[in-house]
Amino acid sequence: MPFPSPADAKPVADRIWNRITILDSGCWAWPSPSKVDGYCRVWIGSHSDGSRRLVLAHRLSYVTFEGEIPDGLELDHTCQNRACVNPDHLEPVTRQENIRRRDARRVSALAGKISA
Ligand SMILES: [Zn+2]
Repeated sequence: MPFPSPADAKPVADRIWNRITILDSGCWAWPSPSKVDGYCRVWIGSHSDGSRRLVLAHRLSYVTFEGEIPDGLELDHTCQNRACVNPDHLEPVTRQENIRRRDARRVSALAGKISA
């Protein structure tokens, strides 16, 4: 198989559309999330110029449809579904804000368990 393969030449947006399943929640579910951290990763670039690399699918989707992620910011899944790559469900936030939101969600989940 010669490099770059036809798959490499295919526009990234098409590759995203071809792989996702749109859920009732509006989430764009990427197949096969990592069993370790729940995030999805995808190979991009080409072997021939050495640009081939594994990237986080939600970051790739955001950059493809929304534009660059501001320097130093992380993408928060506002839907809390790490396998989701819908750019509308991704919000660039600081690391500090991402941690604050994660902790707040944990507290409310815990409160839900206690009251259940
Ligand atoms: Zn989502």
